[in-house]
Amino acid sequence: MRQKIVAGNWKMNKTLQEGVQLAIEVDKLVAALKNNDVKVIIAPPFIHLTEVKKTVKSGISIAAQNCASEDSGAYTGEVSATMVKSTGAEYVIIGHSERRQYYNEGNKLLFKKTQLALTNGLIPIFCIGEVLAERELNKHFEVVKSQIVEGLFDLSVDDFKKVVVAYEPVWAIGTGKTASSDQAQEIHKFIRDTIATKYGQAVADGISILYGGSCKPSNAKELFAKPDVDGGLIGGAALVASDFIGIVTGF
Ligand code: PEP
Repeated sequence: MRQKIVAGNWKMNKTLQEGVQLAIEVDKLVAALKNNDVKVIIAPPFIHLTEVKKTVKSGISIAAQNCASEDSGAYTGEVSATMVKSTGAEYVIIGHSERRQYYNEGNKLLFKKTQLALTNGLIPIFCIGEVLAERELNKHFEVVKSQIVEGLFDLSVDDFKKVVVAYEPVWAIGTGKTASSDQAQEIHKFIRDTIATKYGQAVADGISILYGGSCKPSNAKELFAKPDVDGGLIGGAALVASDFIGIVTGF
């Protein structure tokens, strides 16, 4: 059985005080869930990590939204995987499309970040996904494949097994447009098959592949019902506790 996961990416939203308040609300709602078998993760901004970690009591895990591609040293403004780990965070989002798009993060750099995360005992949530023009040219399979091959396939099998993959079509992020559940299933299956060609079917079958892109309580159920969709990476809807929990209960 693969781990079901719902991860909320707060992006650059919420002051520290607002973030702690949101964490308190989410924590209360998660604590009230009966027989919850979903791993709930929240990814606040770096400066919130320590406080949010101290705040949650219900088994929620904490993720950073990024980490540096170097371990330490003269890299002003950067935050290393070692530092993230020291806050009590367990996960780190790597290669979110906003990092790829606005900060020119490419697969080679993202591989370095992934390795550093793993070396420091963090679980990478590795994001992949095509932009609209690529989808319209029917290049999405090719794009996603190269992101996986270049970003992850130099990992040892033991390291790869720890990774969570998030498929996020860039045209669906924050746009209100969601991939249909059939579109999501088609590409999630393709991702799993691609992984199987490198690491074998058993490893591929154990990897959680999350969908991201305008996921909300009203569409989560249909998406999560698909056999290769193991949960979601949630942006906007993660900023409202009741909406986020509405997604967590979508399985
Ligand atoms: C995201 O940024 O990872 C995301 C999925 O955002 P949204 O849910 O707002 O589309």
